Amino acid sequence: MPDQKRVLLKVIVLGDSGVGKTSLMNQYVNKKFREQYKATIGADFVTKELQVDDKHVTLQIWDTAGQERFQSLGAAFYRGADCCVLVYDVNAPKSFETLRKWHEEFLKQADPVDPSTFPFVVIGNKVDVEGEKNRMNNMRKAREWCDSRGNIPCIETSAKENYNVDVAFHCVAKMALTHE
Ligand code: GDP
Ligand code: MG
Repeated sequence: MPDQKRVLLKVIVLGDSGVGKTSLMNQYVNKKFREQYKATIGADFVTKELQVDDKHVTLQIWDTAGQERFQSLGAAFYRGADCCVLVYDVNAPKSFETLRKWHEEFLKQADPVDPSTFPFVVIGNKVDVEGEKNRMNNMRKAREWCDSRGNIPCIETSAKENYNVDVAFHCVAKMALTHE
């Protein structure tokens, strides 16, 4: 066996409640999806191992409740994060508007050494939902914002149909590896 580098990376998933954070993680880690909505309480993590180039990576992915009170989790919770995933619903413009707030909140609490290079990934979830005519517009706005923030990768997914979910988290792992 060749000597492999093993790395543990801490990932924090933020975004409004209902955008599909828990569903994305559940699809990624357990290959399962549930229609029923079950609110996340507090914060919890799952782990997933994957190979990125020559590195064996363990992602420790922290799920959060999207309520305001979540902010009281505070700096200790964000400490040591290697990547922050910002999730919005491509059919709900408001969920994108608040991404800026989550972005700001993260930088304020995590206080990374260099905020301008700290790795973020934006996920636009629920692309499977039909008949939403503003979706293209919402996605364009999200992409523009990502570009203006130093080219944050922006990936559209469906947790329901398992579309781009692996791609998105592979990107998260790659971005997290750039941290340090
Ligand atoms: P969270 O509050 O961000 O963790 O959101 P959840 O993962 O709990 O999902 C909220 C609701 O949206 C649930 O009813 C899910 O079944 C649904 N949902 C999540 N992802 C998708 C998706 O990609 N497509 C569709 N159609 N529904 C989704
Ligand atoms: Mg949840």
